[in-house]
Amino acid sequence: MQTEEVDILAFGAHADDVEIGMGGTIAKYTELGKKVVICDLTKAEMSSNGTVESRLKEAEKACRVLGVAKRVNAGLPDRGLFLTPEHIEMVAGIIRKYKPKVIFAPYPVDRHPDHGNCAKLVEEASFSAGVRKFRDSEQQDPHKAEAIYYFMINGFHKPDFAVDISGQIHQKISSLESYSSQFKVKEGTFQTPLVGDYIDSVVSREKMIGKEVGVDYAEGFFSTKPLLLSEDLLGGRK
Ligand SMILES: [Zn+2]
Repeated sequence: MQTEEVDILAFGAHADDVEIGMGGTIAKYTELGKKVVICDLTKAEMSSNGTVESRLKEAEKACRVLGVAKRVNAGLPDRGLFLTPEHIEMVAGIIRKYKPKVIFAPYPVDRHPDHGNCAKLVEEASFSAGVRKFRDSEQQDPHKAEAIYYFMINGFHKPDFAVDISGQIHQKISSLESYSSQFKVKEGTFQTPLVGDYIDSVVSREKMIGKEVGVDYAEGFFSTKPLLLSEDLLGGRK
């Protein structure tokens, strides 16, 4: 199988998950020339609003806004992201194909169980992708990403670190507005927790995280491993 090395491989259960959690960070790194691929594990076929086709179009539009190199869909079942050997193999195959430096996945504590299941699946797959004898017959080289970081979708938790997205907040909002079937109130729209003021609540969260680190807006992330302090003692604040 062909491989394409990328800097960031960001997983979500549904198209819009990655944008909600880290749209600003993605815009920031693509502006810096980093190669970013988004992988949606499902086609969100159980979604109350929109269709598989309309959501694919919305997802493509969001990618253009954020400068994402490629968006792929694993085609796993919506509301069926269970930890099975087949699902782990599928996701590990995607990690081996794109050989990311860093993997991102949803933070497991989230009101939507698919987001937590996506995190577990990516965690398992990421480990298996680095095991030389795992799925040896597929002729894919093993790959170990340097780190997995987790982004928030629903709710607020105190993050382990943050990325300044003050210069990218408008791109983030615009990427979210691409998903008009999910966030806009219109006739025939089923009233889900996303409809109405959801984008405002995400922007408020990023404002609050920004306040904690002394910038206008920031996205918060989690790491299961300790982070190394950089030599200039200032982390990313330059
Ligand atoms: Zn979702």
